[in-house]
Amino acid sequence: KLYNQIQDLKGNIRVYCRVRPFLPGQISSLSSVAGMEERTITIMTPTKYGKDGNKSFTFNKVFGPAATQDEVFSDMQPLIRSVLDGFNVCIFAYGQTGSGKTYTMSGPKVLTEESLGVNYKALNDLFNLQAQRKGTIDYDISVQMIEIYNEQVRDLLQDSGNRRLEIKNTSQKGLAVPDASIVPVTSTSDVVELMNQGQKNRAVGSTAINDRSSRSHSCLTVHVQGRDLTSGTVLRGCMHLVDLAGSERVDKSEVVGDRLKEAQYINKSLSALGDVIASLSQKNTHVPYRNSKLTQLLQDSLGNVEKLASLLITLLVVESVMNILLLCSGGQAKTLMFVHISPELDAAGETISTLKFAERVA
Ligand code: ADP
Ligand code: MG
Repeated sequence: KLYNQIQDLKGNIRVYCRVRPFLPGQISSLSSVAGMEERTITIMTPTKYGKDGNKSFTFNKVFGPAATQDEVFSDMQPLIRSVLDGFNVCIFAYGQTGSGKTYTMSGPKVLTEESLGVNYKALNDLFNLQAQRKGTIDYDISVQMIEIYNEQVRDLLQDSGNRRLEIKNTSQKGLAVPDASIVPVTSTSDVVELMNQGQKNRAVGSTAINDRSSRSHSCLTVHVQGRDLTSGTVLRGCMHLVDLAGSERVDKSEVVGDRLKEAQYINKSLSALGDVIASLSQKNTHVPYRNSKLTQLLQDSLGNVEKLASLLITLLVVESVMNILLLCSGGQAKTLMFVHISPELDAAGETISTLKFAERVA
């Protein structure tokens, strides 16, 4: 059964690449992007990173610098809508700091109608469908917003300091973080207000050279419950919208103390995430699932959710989220990873390592 579930999931993992445009004032001739096609992107490898030459990477889709928020969103709309049919959806934004993760998920600092990110558009779309199906299916939509900073989970919808939350899967509702505030929402303006509140509560690093949000993962979780008014059947789905911490490799000689600890936690959790998704999307059916910690764990503990949940808490947080997603989904999970790259030539080293990570997952 587990084998079948994992087989099902394979078809449900997609990886998109998005290239940020040059920002106003930047010199746009110095780009590392040598070519782009619908599914392939080619990067120049400057001499200082090794042999000269171009390297190509293939994904489910490549969005160039001219792609609008609407184009990006309309491509993922069917995925987002499937949450109303009881699917569990997970959308990740991956990439180095400054590559456009937050732009894709939320939008720029000053929001306009056109620049609204996936979070807003997704909820708006769900609200529209909720209204359309009124009288047939009754949907309740609510959200949680958490942050994972140094492997600690915090509620972003409550400014109650640093209370740590746990990831579990014991409550009947299947909430991964049952103690985080869960707020019913009925309109996009509710969501805007909550997101603003959440942003204010995000971690402020001690060495805030970068954007303060670049060293934590933030996750907006949308819970949907639909009740069919004729049959009385209840369907539950959830959607995790994750803005990951910056994936840049930190030179250990340059950072000490808290900043080093942060960097180590980020690297650990991002590579665990890569491992999990890669093992799920492994194309070769003969690769034994015992090779991955995740599947091994699931095999041993299958049928014992409680034991599994407590084991998961001891694992890395991001990996746990993925496991719980897999667990509560019964194979009904869909994952989309958005890989962001910066176009600048001097980011080429980082860009190539980002694309290598993503290609492993694709
Ligand atoms: P990250 O979250 O990965 O650190 P941001 O989303 O903050 O990166 O993007 C860095 C800067 O680039 C911001 O000023 C953002 O508004 C801008 N930006 C990113 N992607 C785009 C895009 N597709 N179009 C226009 N501006 C963008
Ligand atoms: Mg960001």
